[in-house]
Amino acid sequence: MKRIAIIGAGIAGLGLAREIHRLAEVTVFEKSRGYGGRMATRQSQSYQFDHGAQFFTAKSGQFESLLEPYIATGHVARWDAEFVEIESAKIICRRNWIDGPPHYVCVPQMNILAKQMAADLDVVLQTRVTQIVRMDSHWRLFDQNQVSLGDFDWVVLAIPAKQALELMPESFAGLGVIAAKQMLGCYSLMLGFKQALPLDWQAAFVSGADISWISNDSSKPGRPGCYSLLVHSTNRWAEQNLEADQEAVIAYLQAEVERVIRHDVTSADHVALQRWRYANIERQNGANFLIDPDCRLAAVGDWCIHGRIESAYLSGFGLAQELRPDL
Ligand SMILES: Cc1cc2nc3c(=O)[nH]c(=O)nc-3n(C[C@H](O)[C@H](O)[C@H](O)COP(=O)(O)OP(=O)(O)OC[C@H]3O[C@@H](n4cnc5c(N)ncnc54)[C@H](O)[C@@H]3O)c2cc1C
Repeated sequence: MKRIAIIGAGIAGLGLAREIHRLAEVTVFEKSRGYGGRMATRQSQSYQFDHGAQFFTAKSGQFESLLEPYIATGHVARWDAEFVEIESAKIICRRNWIDGPPHYVCVPQMNILAKQMAADLDVVLQTRVTQIVRMDSHWRLFDQNQVSLGDFDWVVLAIPAKQALELMPESFAGLGVIAAKQMLGCYSLMLGFKQALPLDWQAAFVSGADISWISNDSSKPGRPGCYSLLVHSTNRWAEQNLEADQEAVIAYLQAEVERVIRHDVTSADHVALQRWRYANIERQNGANFLIDPDCRLAAVGDWCIHGRIESAYLSGFGLAQELRPDL
């Protein structure tokens, strides 16, 4: 059996691993303590926040098939939010997501899908791969302590493009393609309140401001009761302020929220900030995954297609179909 290392336990890496783990000896290495990457959840005091991806849609048959059993078990559910579009401080459009294609979330938290997908897989957590070295006929991986993680026939990077560029051996044929990918930053502001705010909607796309999204995260199905708001900055503002002082970022984003929802949020009982350096990417033209069969190296991730959960999955799934005949 061929030995395959997949670096990254986000939806792309786990999607790939699930498709090939019965055909090869597959090991997934993940630097964090948990699964899911940018499908992330944070618990703080009695509040819970999905501080990365907010919801997802399923447009392809492949992704729908993945979701089907998890919908049946209740790990994935529709979020039928009252949705508005706000321009500056004015609501310009309103609808309920119950009317239309599903907007899904994981239950009770966003990283649960990845955790479920990882159940039958060999995943090594808290292990950052720092080096991929060519030995005679295979690749040897090393961790953050320069300890060998073993030898592999194939290595697949399932991590954001910039990080893939730093780690990928120079012999990889697709290096130029990775280098051209422009991922954008984002700030997530997490606000927890002892009392619910008087908003008559649960999810909002915002324009004409430096924030792009506000949601009542605790209105998603299966969440704990404590009222939480989750705010995303625009990618543009984040890119301009990536190195700014965290307290200044929090103060600015809070002021933007107040301007948009016309309500004081300084009374928040809990305030936290997450900076995502590589949050998202515009829709891409080109291959859904990168593969170099001569070197037996490959790369997958949302950045091949679009900064969406479904795109990340399709990237990993596509590579799996390509690898199958060789396994
Ligand atoms: C703020 C924000 C909001 C978003 N909103 C939405 C949304 O509403 N809907 C939607 O569909 N998508 C959304 N997205 C995008 C979505 O989260 C991503 O498209 C998707 O999760 C990417 O999955 P991935 O597997 O490609 O990468 P990731 O989820 O980034 O997974 C990569 C994994 O690799 C690990 N890793 C990195 N380097 C190493 C290393 N050297 N060694 C070991 N492990 C490593 C990381 O820890 C991570 O777990 C959002 C993203 C962000 C950040």
